[in-house]
Amino acid sequence: MARPTQALIDRQALRGNFAIAQAASTAHCMPMVKANAYGHGAEIVCRALDNAPAFGVASIEEALELRRLGVDKPILLLEGTFSADEITLAEENQLWLMVENHQQCRELLEAPLQRPISLWLGLDTGMHRLGFQADEIEAIYQALASSGKVQSSVVLASHLASADHFNDHKTRQQIANFDAAYASIAVPDGAQLQQSLANSAALLGWPETRRDWQRPGYMLYGNSPFVHGNDDYGLRPVMTFVTAVTSLRSIDAGESVGYAGTWTASRASRIATLAVGYGDGYPRHAPNGTPVLINGRRCPLIGRVSMDMITVDITDCPSVNIGDQSTLWGPDLPVNEIAEHCATNGYQLLSGITARVPRIAQN
Ligand SMILES: *Cc1c(COP(=O)(O)O)cnc(C)c1O
Repeated sequence: MARPTQALIDRQALRGNFAIAQAASTAHCMPMVKANAYGHGAEIVCRALDNAPAFGVASIEEALELRRLGVDKPILLLEGTFSADEITLAEENQLWLMVENHQQCRELLEAPLQRPISLWLGLDTGMHRLGFQADEIEAIYQALASSGKVQSSVVLASHLASADHFNDHKTRQQIANFDAAYASIAVPDGAQLQQSLANSAALLGWPETRRDWQRPGYMLYGNSPFVHGNDDYGLRPVMTFVTAVTSLRSIDAGESVGYAGTWTASRASRIATLAVGYGDGYPRHAPNGTPVLINGRRCPLIGRVSMDMITVDITDCPSVNIGDQSTLWGPDLPVNEIAEHCATNGYQLLSGITARVPRIAQN
């Protein structure tokens, strides 16, 4: 006896997707597990990907949670620290640090460290969100490399703004900027400067971005990172977001359903109520007509999404009963398709699954 709303996590699919990312990588492949592994449950994901060399997260809180769960691999803080006191905590917990602005750089140079820390140096190649500018990267690198605070092997990293579009000239420009900045840095004897550029879309769609470290996120969870175009990489969706039918009724033509009556039946209709809502992360702005799978059949969402429930028009699916399993997205209903109905992307839908939805590891 339990509310039937669950996120089923297919570990075999996850491992298979990681194998696809590794096969495409020329070197190391670091899974991104920020935002509770894109909503899939960081614990399940990190344990399933026990062959990964390291993991990437957005904050020290996320990293410490992984440590608490027993993850002992290196963990990269993708945005570095948000305050100076995090640096010693990062050292104690063997975290890898991104340094991407002058304040972080100053704080690291002044930090009382016992041992040199593992450094990733963030470069702004055109996204203009994080990273040092190309004309200052050489000086920053030298200051840090000679400080005794960082290990002799450093990774130069940048992030691509538009890799999910094929043949995008901005991506070509960012790659060129990255290569020029890398070439501008004189690496001392005995030191090493590695490179990292690729997210999922770059790893699959832009082979020239494959460097020492790839940073795939979305593709590991089994959905295409591309806005349009070739989807055939063999990725398999990891999450199946399921619930069940909890109530059924017939209404007359002209009756409306749900808050504010945003849908009115144009014919006598049969309505199923399902135990999922925006309190679970199903998007409140999903419009009438967004598909829901009931007993494997696509039926249209109708009426406004409530906190704990949605309503579906099953007039054309006659054999629906209370307790029938329903799928909001999964292998047979791509989250990207639901996202398109909702004018958002699959990243937001997956990472928006809330804490009250149990993540159930399978196989
Ligand atoms: C989240 C993130 C990624 C992964 O991007 P995907 O599109 O999910 O593959 C890579 N690099 C950085 C810096 C990120 O923050």
